[in-house]
Amino acid sequence: MLLTLRCRLLNPQLSKLFRSLPHPHKSHPSSLTFGASISQQPNCPYASAAKGQRPAALSESAKFVRTVLFVPPGVNPDDVTDDMILPGSNIVLGPYAGDAKVKDVDFVKSSNRPKDCPKDDRPEFAMLGRSNVGKSSLINFLVRKKEVALTSKRPGKTQLINHFLVNKSWYIVDLPGYGFANAPESARMDWSSFTKGYFLNRETLVSVLLLIDASVPPQKIDLDCANWLGRNNISMTFVFTKCDKMKGGKGRRPDENIRNFLELMKENYRQHPPWIMTSSITGLGRDELLLHMSQLRNYWDSEETN
Ligand code: GDP
Repeated sequence: MLLTLRCRLLNPQLSKLFRSLPHPHKSHPSSLTFGASISQQPNCPYASAAKGQRPAALSESAKFVRTVLFVPPGVNPDDVTDDMILPGSNIVLGPYAGDAKVKDVDFVKSSNRPKDCPKDDRPEFAMLGRSNVGKSSLINFLVRKKEVALTSKRPGKTQLINHFLVNKSWYIVDLPGYGFANAPESARMDWSSFTKGYFLNRETLVSVLLLIDASVPPQKIDLDCANWLGRNNISMTFVFTKCDKMKGGKGRRPDENIRNFLELMKENYRQHPPWIMTSSITGLGRDELLLHMSQLRNYWDSEETN
């Protein structure tokens, strides 16, 4: 229970997202105690962004973007400057960012029930998305190890919860894809009960990375999924995939699809969850996504030890 509360605190804005929901927690990042400073994080390329100096002027774009920013714990929204915003995202980098390198990754186990998942206190991120969204490619691109993505693709493993341990300290969890092509039920949330059970019961879940294919217009099933997670107060980050497909092809460009998706989300949210553009082909967004994950994880860890 305590852990669940900590998970929710992780994304303090999420509790304010749904108009229909009361605020389950009144805590605001600035009301919490923050230990680390970004300048103490050796691996953080944005370290200079949060050293406390406030550059004199904000650009017009920063003023606009600020209205849809994800401001993490430890950052006062009024102190956000352009160089604190991760490129290709709405994510502000705060004092918990750092340690974003993937040194090693090991497949730990496949589980078909939440209660069979590894039993330890290490934080985890769940990867979720429609089949063919590019989930295996994204996992492979994050950890730069082909075997990991191949494990996720192996017949029989695709409907299981697959745990991969990164740097012996945190997990990437590959969840079954949803919305298989042309299935009539695909317009509804049709996760198997074990997947839903995982979200609702996994106390070490730091955040869900909800993958959205930016090369196609917003899909109802993705919106339904985001809304289900939001209604259940589960922290999430929208990871837009295939953002390299900027030119040519039929239909709209990824940036337009992303804007439309976020517009549709706005109908349900007061503020946007964190989102980020990626491409496993060009490498777009990799370091930024790992930094974002590091700040969520480090904050989670710091709450754990307090
Ligand atoms: P999964 O079913 O969600 O695991 O998706 P995969 O990772 O197998 O990818 C599905 C298809 O999308 C494959 O044909 C990939 O080559 C393609 N794909 C995945 N990521 C990207 C990307 O970033 N850019 C482009 N252009 N194609 C991608």
